[in-house]
Amino acid sequence: MITAKNITKTFGDLKVLKGIDLEIPAGKLYSIVGPSGAGKTTLLQILGTLSKPDSGEVHIHDKSVFALGEKQLAAFRNKEIGFVFQFHYLLPEFNALENVCIPAFIAKKGKKETEARAKELLNFLGLSHRLTHKPAELSGGERQRVAVARALINNPAVIMADEPSGNLDTQNRNDLHDLFFKLRDEFKQTLVIVTHDENFARQSDRIIRMRDGRIED
Ligand code: ADP
Repeated sequence: MITAKNITKTFGDLKVLKGIDLEIPAGKLYSIVGPSGAGKTTLLQILGTLSKPDSGEVHIHDKSVFALGEKQLAAFRNKEIGFVFQFHYLLPEFNALENVCIPAFIAKKGKKETEARAKELLNFLGLSHRLTHKPAELSGGERQRVAVARALINNPAVIMADEPSGNLDTQNRNDLHDLFFKLRDEFKQTLVIVTHDENFARQSDRIIRMRDGRIED
């Protein structure tokens, strides 16, 4: 479903990725672990088409993503990749329901069907009583679940998450991790998650261990 071939990336004199080959099958949850500075975020950003590699290719759904023009790539990314970051990046002036709808409106989907799906997702995530709350009125765990609903709204090919539970307490972290497995099991959702949580990584379908710009065997 996602294939990366011989990905390299350099920042100045620093070779951050030194030839990454990777295949991520549909419906699996892959975790990426490794020490700070190993290149995990850089790799996730390239897999998520947010950053271009110096060499190598990324295919998602058999599409060579970096061969797309800038506008096409932006539309592809908005439709096919749902991002969850360590910080929620919800828009403070919009409520939970509105925040979840935004990627669908960017994809020019209709208001009625979008709101219905957003409500369905928020309901699934246990947030049906929080639709009209703004981010400041939500707990950390709730905000992160709204961010997950937003990532899911366009029914993306893959969810990519960078330390999504890094900012949460133990209970909320466990709840979020359970939710990721539920998305895999019930929605057949493909997920790629950068994490420092070895316990969570151990439960994933594959642990990608990075060190010094490479994947360890
Ligand atoms: P990890 O996620 O494993 O901690 P990163 O991918 O964030 O690693 O970073 C790998 C290395 O690349 C680090 O040394 C970091 O400082 C450097 N780096 C990351 N992004 C940039 C950038 N935009 N410009 C310069 N250096 C960067």
